Amino acid sequence: MTQVDSNSNLSITFWGVRGSIPTPVSANLGYGGNTACLAIDRGDAILILDAGSGIRTLGVELCARPALPEIHLLFTHFHWDHIQGLPFFAPLFHPEARIILYSFHPPEKLRSILAGQMVAPYFPIDFLQVSQHVEFRQIEHSTLPIAGLTVQSFDLHHPQRSQGYRISDGAHSIVIATDHEHGDPEADARLNTVARGADLLVYDAQYTPLEYEKRHGWGHSTWRDAVSVAFEAQIPQLVLFHHDPAHDDATLDAILAEAQTQFPLTCCAREGMTLRLETPASA
Ligand SMILES: [Zn+2]
Ligand SMILES: [Zn+2]
Repeated sequence: MTQVDSNSNLSITFWGVRGSIPTPVSANLGYGGNTACLAIDRGDAILILDAGSGIRTLGVELCARPALPEIHLLFTHFHWDHIQGLPFFAPLFHPEARIILYSFHPPEKLRSILAGQMVAPYFPIDFLQVSQHVEFRQIEHSTLPIAGLTVQSFDLHHPQRSQGYRISDGAHSIVIATDHEHGDPEADARLNTVARGADLLVYDAQYTPLEYEKRHGWGHSTWRDAVSVAFEAQIPQLVLFHHDPAHDDATLDAILAEAQTQFPLTCCAREGMTLRLETPASA
């Protein structure tokens, strides 16, 4: 699953893998306690998915580089676990940083939503002042070239809406489908169509099938749904993501073992993990 191919040119790193709320308790640290943040590093540019608490460490790493890359940050949606790290993202306060933020909202709406969590009495620094150098763009039901990649956005099924992304470098594709509840026929069909033939699927697997019995309508799926989507869309590698705060390392190990009996090329997202997609032999 985690084979590293030094010739590969598309990789994804998991900076935060937890859903709902950070859970930095010792029993969870094998997989990690930070909330959602993924990154596809292109060297002179980086594409980041979501700004959960995991983005803080990423920001520190970016600021330690000799030169900051151009930063493209895409939001799936605006629940706390996907935005709460932004006030602690060091490049936001770096005078030379070039930062472009994307979501399904028009630019001014996106700006005002993010400003809402950095305003008195919640935070001492005003987002509107520190974001003068930040650009805001809309990506909704559309495909845009971003950081040398092709990024396609599509709606998922989640309370107050969430957006998935298919990201391609021309040779490989990664589909991010987090904060998605399986079972809505229209949304499932859309996901199946968009995701078809991708190389890697990162999927919301917050609940066990048993837990889900009492969580209908909460906006999340199970490892079993993740396996179904991977089979249906013919995606060879699966990453279970958005781990429940109550799932410690032993629980996630058990979930993973169960999922692998049905879909061997499955892994559980782990903080610090990088997956590189193999370059085809002919390339
Ligand atoms: Zn979430
Ligand atoms: Zn959510």
